[in-house]
Amino acid sequence: MHDRPAPRPQAPPARPPAVRRHNLGLLLGALRAAPSSRATLAAATGLTRGTVAGLLDPLVAAGVLAEGEPDRSRVGRPGTPLVFAGSGPVVLAVSVEVDGVDALVTGLDGQVVHRSRRRRDHRGLDPDAVFGRAARTAANLAARTGRTVAGAGIAVPGPVRGSDGAAVLLRAPNLPRLDGCRPAEHAGALGEVPLLVGNEASLGALAHLGQADDFVYVSADVGIGGGIVVDGRVLPGARGVAGEIGHVVIERAGRLCGCGGTGCVEVYAGLPALLGDAGAADVAALRTAARAGDPAATGALARAGAALGTALTSVLHVVDVGTVVLGGSYAELGTWLVPAVHAELVRRGVATGPDVAVLVSPHGRAATVTGTARAVADRVLGEPDLLLAG
Ligand SMILES: [Zn+2]
Repeated sequence: MHDRPAPRPQAPPARPPAVRRHNLGLLLGALRAAPSSRATLAAATGLTRGTVAGLLDPLVAAGVLAEGEPDRSRVGRPGTPLVFAGSGPVVLAVSVEVDGVDALVTGLDGQVVHRSRRRRDHRGLDPDAVFGRAARTAANLAARTGRTVAGAGIAVPGPVRGSDGAAVLLRAPNLPRLDGCRPAEHAGALGEVPLLVGNEASLGALAHLGQADDFVYVSADVGIGGGIVVDGRVLPGARGVAGEIGHVVIERAGRLCGCGGTGCVEVYAGLPALLGDAGAADVAALRTAARAGDPAATGALARAGAALGTALTSVLHVVDVGTVVLGGSYAELGTWLVPAVHAELVRRGVATGPDVAVLVSPHGRAATVTGTARAVADRVLGEPDLLLAG
């Protein structure tokens, strides 16, 4: 296959904007996965080379994309791959946690440019103090790159209704002064940048797109959060409760939960319940005890895993995906939780065995900002004309 310049199309027919945007989104998604020449992109997408060049060359001229090193391993004339420009636009992600702020700047292709993590006790602070300072931290990190910020995202520790600047943080169980606020209204330092707001675990789910395209992510910290990802997109939900797996009921008349209901899996397999059951002070102590074979520790982990597997049985019966990813503190306890969760899924018949994989997140606490940056980049690449306007 030769990479000849495509003949100029004669008076190409006008394309409806939606088709153009769709095609551009396809091409940019393919480029994010791997640098590719215009010819390879044309073959992969079924578009003509003229169309590919017509869509992408303005982005090269605008400095969003760049010509990479020609691939000389190929037979014939080497193709010149397009890449996301190293000086091109960046996206900014900030995660506001109970006890800290995590910030990340990446290229549109997910390449990490800067990251920072600061301990900061947010308990008792009002929305201006929490989001104002987090936004300044993030804006300073972005300013260090000297690159245009194409979009920003804020991950918050509670359910969120909406996903843009008008999004409402419905409640933050450990930061009640934030209940009902609109985070974007308090994030002044992020200025005019298009802002995405979402729940920390739902956004954190997106960090795992390399591991699977369709999966359920379950993350434990104080509560249990989660996200449902289908076809590479997190289920947004209408009222802010999508992916709140912690409140799947596993005992109809069970223990009282903070949500007002009873028998939610969170009161059996959440971190406070698990540590209390094991008699361990923290996750590190629980791991040490379980490694030593302490029956109180291994027993508590087996019970938490079974409770989680029971909740996930319901989830998998509703959204039939073949992968479960355990994140947050669960990832640190994967040695014990993975087999217990998987055994329960098989015992309850929603899995026969290898048809459902239970995986451990490799991202630790960084999952939230990594997934948030991905969500922001998805949004920017979905409206690529904004990159040309900027
Ligand atoms: Zn509940």
